[in-house]
Amino acid sequence: VGGHPQPQEGRMNPPGVKAVIAIGSGKGGVGKSTVSSNLAVALARAGKKVGLLDADIHGPSQPRMFGVSKRPASPDGKTIIPLHAHGVTLMSIGLMLPEDKAVVWRGPMLMGALQQMMMQVEWGELDVLIVDLPPGTGDVQLTLGQKSDLAGAIVVSTPQDVAMLDAKKALDAFETLKVPVLGLIENMSLYKCPNCGHEAHLFGEGGVAAEAERLGLPVLANLPIDLETRLGGDAGTPVALGDGVMAQAYAQLADRLIK
Ligand code: ADP
Repeated sequence: VGGHPQPQEGRMNPPGVKAVIAIGSGKGGVGKSTVSSNLAVALARAGKKVGLLDADIHGPSQPRMFGVSKRPASPDGKTIIPLHAHGVTLMSIGLMLPEDKAVVWRGPMLMGALQQMMMQVEWGELDVLIVDLPPGTGDVQLTLGQKSDLAGAIVVSTPQDVAMLDAKKALDAFETLKVPVLGLIENMSLYKCPNCGHEAHLFGEGGVAAEAERLGLPVLANLPIDLETRLGGDAGTPVALGDGVMAQAYAQLADRLIK
């Protein structure tokens, strides 16, 4: 809790958590955190007990996306009491540090922070713990993949070639770590003009589906570029809380994962 976190020996499976699902991406900025927050909300709305661990240690977005900033309490200086927002139990390294302060840590400290957030946080009884990973294939992915028994991983990508190129590496890393990949999510493919209804594929089309087919994996959702999604993320009220088309899309995604 205080000082610099150091990695400990041992497995990282929080007691009381039935399934841990990691959300990864190759590149940053493709919507991994947006998908994580909305999926967590949609699963909670479907009646599941859901936790969200923001493991994007260098760029934690979840406090902003959930509209929380309170530092989690640690009455005994060891265990950490997570926050609760929009029906989701939440922990982020961003809650422990000022928003404009950078985490300048080497690998062992990153792994120690992950371990604290997995094992020292009082997650309680959860049906699912969503872990919002940092982009890429670094220490956090490696530690989580090796030390936790993950129910699976989901990779988010835009259809753009440069994003897919890195998404393939993330998929390959999960395979190497023997983490089952549940599927891919295509984000920000379609843009529909709110004025004239014209549709454009700003970041290309078909790349995610082609890779999914090549690997024999499902595309779990195709999420368009959507103003409400962006506004909801910035305002701390995920779009999945509402009753529009995006909330429906996330409800469908949650249903697919529950089945
Ligand atoms: P990552 O976690 O992959 O770095 P974020 O979830 O932080 O990406 O998303 C990057 C930016 O794109 C954020 O400003 C977010 O609000 C926005 N964004 C993500 N998905 C969408 C979408 N489907 N439509 C519009 N904006 C989106």
